[in-house]
Amino acid sequence: MEKGTTIEIRWHGRGGQGAVTSAELTALAAMREGKYAQAFPSFGPERRGAPVLAFNRISQDTPIRIRSGVVKPDIVIVLDPGLVTLINVVDGLKPGGALIVNSTRSVDDLKQEFSGDWKLAVVNASAIARELLGVNIVNTTMLGALIRATGIINMESLTEPLAEKFGARSKSNFEACNRAFKETAQDKITTTGPKKQKSFQAEKLPRWNELLVGCAVTDVGNTKRFCTGDWKSEHPEWNDAVCIQCGICSIYCPEACISEQSDGYFRSNPFFCKGCGICAQECWTKAIKMVEGS
Ligand code: SF4
Ligand code: SF4
Repeated sequence: MEKGTTIEIRWHGRGGQGAVTSAELTALAAMREGKYAQAFPSFGPERRGAPVLAFNRISQDTPIRIRSGVVKPDIVIVLDPGLVTLINVVDGLKPGGALIVNSTRSVDDLKQEFSGDWKLAVVNASAIARELLGVNIVNTTMLGALIRATGIINMESLTEPLAEKFGARSKSNFEACNRAFKETAQDKITTTGPKKQKSFQAEKLPRWNELLVGCAVTDVGNTKRFCTGDWKSEHPEWNDAVCIQCGICSIYCPEACISEQSDGYFRSNPFFCKGCGICAQECWTKAIKMVEGS
């Protein structure tokens, strides 16, 4: 890392995926190396599955005074593969920077989605996390990809922050991080011709002067307009052979999108299921399994 420079990182994830923890661990590791570092999140709807942002600033030798969100990052990290087509993740990414994505797709395939002048690094962090951690929470795994693609921190500097954060589980998290380091594939994207512009759907929210006093909601049932089903990268699958039709999954579902079918078994509505996995966690007979894909 060059003297006098501040590297800015933007993490894109979803509530429950640990983007905020990733940013914290990155900052703690950088501070252990004697660098100056910041980590902070930015939330929209504070719900599991909702898109969230987290930011880092890291400087080798200069105290960091700026406190605003990162809009022109040097590095962008995407924890959820589905966000690549939903949000303009490379918005403001500086030339010469790096985009690091958790995806099952190859670098060559994913390259077709972007234009610019930066490095693309790809790793199937979900597969690594499922195998080594037993859950699709890729925050620590993606740290390995960050280190491989940028070298902004050293792997060893993560040992203590991981131990403090995860205790007995730090060993498997460290293993996942190391595995991602080895499996991250990289390539350079250099597009000199006219840039392919993607259009992203932006939710139209009311302006400040259009909100009612106290932000009262008078439009009853308006949540049905927001199909949170496009938030998910995993969906639940039911095994009716072990389901006892207790209905607990439907009670815990935060979207209330699980309903009883005419045969007494339960299913989710894919337009509103956001893939949070709470139903699978709460089902006491383990009749629900979260599987990749929407
Ligand atoms: S919680 Fe599990 S056992 Fe109960 S209805 Fe849902 S899937 Fe079936
Ligand atoms: S059906 Fe399951 S995974 Fe989908 S939103 Fe409800 S609790 Fe979450």
